[in-house]
Amino acid sequence: MAQFQLADRLAKLPPYLFAEIDRIKAQVAARGVDIISLGIGDPDMPTPDFIIEAMKKAVEKPVNHAYPSYVGMLSYREAVADWYKRRFNADLDPKSEVVSLIGSKEGIAHFPLAFINPGDLVLVCTPNYPVYNIATEFAGGIVKFVPLTEDNSFLPDLDAIDEETWTKAKAIFVNYPNNPTAAMADMAFYEKLIKIAKQYNVIVVHDTAYTEIYYNEDNRPLSIMSVPGGKDVAIEFHSLSKTYNMTGWRVGMAVGNPQLVAGLGKIKENVDSGVFQAVQEAGIVAMRDGDPFTAELRKIYKQRRDIMIAALRKAGIHCNVPESTFYIWCRVPQGYTSSEFVTKVLQETGVVITPGNGFGTPGEGYFRISLTVNDARLEEAVSRIVKL
Ligand code: PLP
Repeated sequence: MAQFQLADRLAKLPPYLFAEIDRIKAQVAARGVDIISLGIGDPDMPTPDFIIEAMKKAVEKPVNHAYPSYVGMLSYREAVADWYKRRFNADLDPKSEVVSLIGSKEGIAHFPLAFINPGDLVLVCTPNYPVYNIATEFAGGIVKFVPLTEDNSFLPDLDAIDEETWTKAKAIFVNYPNNPTAAMADMAFYEKLIKIAKQYNVIVVHDTAYTEIYYNEDNRPLSIMSVPGGKDVAIEFHSLSKTYNMTGWRVGMAVGNPQLVAGLGKIKENVDSGVFQAVQEAGIVAMRDGDPFTAELRKIYKQRRDIMIAALRKAGIHCNVPESTFYIWCRVPQGYTSSEFVTKVLQETGVVITPGNGFGTPGEGYFRISLTVNDARLEEAVSRIVKL
């Protein structure tokens, strides 16, 4: 058989960290242990019926069977703008400041192709969703990681980035509410970021996949689009995945600066053909009628969070109580690395958690718990962890 070499851009990617966990998981499962996964960021509950019913109707319409528009149906983009107005009081022009995405991952992965030339410097706040640095590298960009540390509430220390770096940087990736740390950013942070980005002409790429998973009505996550000047420098990636349990549907949006949105649209025009229109129609219904559903969803995650936090406290594990996302970011007990601790928990309890270093070097010394199993499974996981 012929031998084919992977392209350098793929071959040089670091080994898949979770492969080792998968291997141990298989060993533990082979011993007959019932594995509970608190490792993945995929909601465990189904998409609500009202969205499924909308989809059923939409899928029967022949007009929806053709190629969709690359940038999304105008009605979908209008629904996005309406939702942004209602949720964030942000004004968006649906014609030029919104583009549909096949899930936000698709847009994030394609964005660097539109604005990053080989050799360009891109800042990536880390620990992070790995698509930011991988997509940058695929485009030929050079990644400089900006650490998010507990001392600075897992926000980048913008003052610690030197003038030369800011001058060279083409873009900065930020993500709040943050995966994996569950940190949130306040208005003052965004104002400062926008000011610096304007000064040095740096694109702000903001990932807001988790804005609707929050637990304190008085401290709701922000969109950079609602901050004065945000639209001058930023593009924001959001999706219906976590808000309406729609991860499998692949539907999201990028919004913001019209040049940035158009640049991404131009890449998309050349590499994909948009989101299935029936999915867009179901998405319109989700955004229009979905607030009560999401309010209930938050209650469920909040209850899970409280169960898990109580157990972690009992077990003497340090963690902050997250006010958003369905993740808990905890310090590993002294004497362990992230990988050692995660391996021990998996081998001795059958519970899968994620090592913090899998999200970047500053994640070493931490692990992430996902609250994406039902109460009974969570209680079971908790009792095993407390016993350990
Ligand atoms: N951004 C973050 C931080 C995520 O954790 C995820 C998925 O887990 C995504 C983006 C992508 O979500 P989707 O492509 O489903 O919109």
